[in-house]
Amino acid sequence: MIKVTNLSFTYHKSSIPAVKNLNFAVNDGEIFGFLGPSGAGKSTTQNILIGLLGGYTGEISVSGKTLQQWNHSFYDYIGVCFELPNHYLKLSARENLQFFSTFYNVPVRDPVELLKMVGLDTDADKKVEGYSKGMKMRLNFIRSLLHKPQVLFLDEPTSGLDPVNARNIKDIILDQKRQGKTIFLTTHNMHDADELCDRVAFITEGEISIIDSPKQLKLQNGKRVVKVEYMNGSPEQREFEMDLIGENNDFLNIIKDHRLISIHSEEATLDDVFIKVTGKRLD
Ligand code: ADP
Ligand code: MG
Repeated sequence: MIKVTNLSFTYHKSSIPAVKNLNFAVNDGEIFGFLGPSGAGKSTTQNILIGLLGGYTGEISVSGKTLQQWNHSFYDYIGVCFELPNHYLKLSARENLQFFSTFYNVPVRDPVELLKMVGLDTDADKKVEGYSKGMKMRLNFIRSLLHKPQVLFLDEPTSGLDPVNARNIKDIILDQKRQGKTIFLTTHNMHDADELCDRVAFITEGEISIIDSPKQLKLQNGKRVVKVEYMNGSPEQREFEMDLIGENNDFLNIIKDHRLISIHSEEATLDDVFIKVTGKRLD
């Protein structure tokens, strides 16, 4: 659905490239995560992919057409959630959505229906200048869904939201995937990436170091052991190889004879893998 070949880009007054020789493809119907710390080049990449930043080298195609081959219908085809909300502060949320609706040459969704999805329907007629940061983020997010786009570019969509609203946004993203949409998701939140993404690319300092499914990354980088905590007068813990654990008498005796406190497989978290692969932390 999205194919990026040898993409590099340097900002005007900068001497070092913000992104360097990126190569990746996003499959039809998948959520592809771009995971990296602040300043890694995620937003730059998104802004290039949506045609906002020119002057790059390399090739980008979306649905079989290069960005140069697309005409204005590209903006009917894609939906974009920018990192920072940009709304008309003197207009209400409803008016903002109505205004942005006029940009599209395809049928749009009912603004109230969208506002309801993120709990803003009761504030629909309030001026956006009176909105909190989280409310602006939610409005920003639903704006990307206004014209039922086939491909979504979401730049840190849950950033700055409380857990309940973040959960809701993630559920909406998963629902978009169920509807067959393709989603390019930029995030520095490894929990979001782990939960939502079919595949993630790790990006640091403008370069991708690895692309794989969160599950594979965790399996390949974790230990195949089970850690058991149990009472033996006082709490004790032991680790056992996962392979052939059903035939391991030490393990079997512990779970038969002792009161268990906890039992965990020790696969890596995506955070562990990120540090191991890139040598950098996520925030
Ligand atoms: P991320 O979204 O991963 O946090 P960005 O793509 O925003 O990272 O930034 C990548 C690099 O490009 C950073 O070093 C940042 O300082 C730089 N950068 C971002 N925007 C601009 C700009 N408009 N002009 C010059 N440099 C920029
Ligand atoms: Mg960014």
